[in-house]
Amino acid sequence: MKIKVDEKINQKQIKVLNRANILKAFREYEVVQKNDLVQMLGLSITTVTSNIKELLEEGLIESVGIAKSTGGRKPIMLQFVKNALVSIGVDISPHRVSMILTNLSSEIIDHDDFKVENGDMTATLALVEEHINRLLKKHIIDKSRCVGVGLSLPGVVDEEKNILINAPNLKVENYSFEAFEASLGLPLYLENEANVAAFAELILGEAKQSDDVIYISITDGVGCGIITNHAVSKGSFKKAGEFGHMRISDKDIKCSCGRKGCWELFASERALLKHYQEISGDILPDLRAFFDEYSEGSSDVNEALSVYFDYLTIGIENIVLGLDPEKIIIGGEIAKYLLEIEPFINEYMKRNHSILESNDNKIVLSKLAPKSAVLGGSLLPLKDMFDF
Ligand SMILES: [Zn+2]
Repeated sequence: MKIKVDEKINQKQIKVLNRANILKAFREYEVVQKNDLVQMLGLSITTVTSNIKELLEEGLIESVGIAKSTGGRKPIMLQFVKNALVSIGVDISPHRVSMILTNLSSEIIDHDDFKVENGDMTATLALVEEHINRLLKKHIIDKSRCVGVGLSLPGVVDEEKNILINAPNLKVENYSFEAFEASLGLPLYLENEANVAAFAELILGEAKQSDDVIYISITDGVGCGIITNHAVSKGSFKKAGEFGHMRISDKDIKCSCGRKGCWELFASERALLKHYQEISGDILPDLRAFFDEYSEGSSDVNEALSVYFDYLTIGIENIVLGLDPEKIIIGGEIAKYLLEIEPFINEYMKRNHSILESNDNKIVLSKLAPKSAVLGGSLLPLKDMFDF
C-alpha cells in the first residue's frame, strides 16, 4: 500500500518561493513600486522590504526615481536589471546545433548556428563548448554572470542525472554529460526537445494562458510535449509524449525505433518532402524550397500538402480522442511556413476530419517556431530563480 505523505512547505522553501515570485513580478512588469508587490503577491511589507534590499545588493534590481505621491511618502520606483545575468540555450539536432544567449527577460542577445557530424556526441559537445566560450567572450560576459546552459535533446533524458538515455536519431544511448559540465564550468540542464519546446510555449508562447495543451514538435521526427495543469508532464519513466512512434499505417516502412508504420514516418519534415517526391518525381532540398513552390502555385505542392495533412490529422485526432486538450500547438520550423498558409490548414482540417470539426480543441501554430526548443533550453537555468 502506498501512503501519500502530505509534505508541508517549510519556512526555507517559503522564503525561496517569495523571492522567486518577487523576481517574476519584476520580469513581467519591469518597473514596480514596493506597494505594488505587496498587493500583487499578498506578501507582508517586511517580506517585500527585505527581499528588495537583497535584490538591490545583488544588482538584480535598481532604483529609478520617485513616483508621484498620492499623499504621504513618495514611493521609489524599482526597475528589473534584466541584463544583470545571462542564460544560454542550446538545441542539438542530428546535423545542426542552434544556440542563443538571452538576458533574464528571455530577450535574445545573440545567436549562433553551426553544422555537426551526426553520431559523435563528444565531438559535437566539444564544438558546443567552443561556441559557448566564443559567444561569452564576444559580449565580454564572465562565466560568473551566466546562470547556466540548458540543452534540448531529441531523445529520452534523465534530467536529474544529466544522462541522455536514448536518442535513435542521434545514434546515442546512455550518454553522460558529467564530463562536459565539468569542462564547461557552468551549471548544465538537460531536457527532451519536445518537452523543452512545450515549456517555452508555457512561459513565453501559445500555452501561456492554457492549462492542458499538447505541443507537437515537427522536425526530423515528431515528438510531443504534454502540458497538464499548466506544467509539463513527463510520465512515470520520462517517456510520455512519444506519439511520433504511435502506429498509424500498415505500410511496410521501417522507423528508426525499429517498428513499422510510425506517425513520424508520415508527418515529419522529411515526410512532407517525401510525399512531394512521390507525387512529382522531384527532390527538394528543404522546406524553404517546398514553400517557394507553393507560392508559385504548384499543384504538386498542393497535393503533397493534402497527403501530409491527412497523415498529420490522423495523429492529431488520436491525441484528441485520448487526451482532449484545450489546445494543440504545432511547432518546429514547418510552423513558421504554415503560418503563411494558415487559412488553408484551418479549412482543410475541418473539411476532412469530423473529430476536429467541433472546434473545441483549438489547433494553433507556434509563434516561437523554429526557436521554441532553443528558447526552452535557455529557460531551464532560470527555472528555480523565477519558479517557472
Ligand atoms: Zn517509430
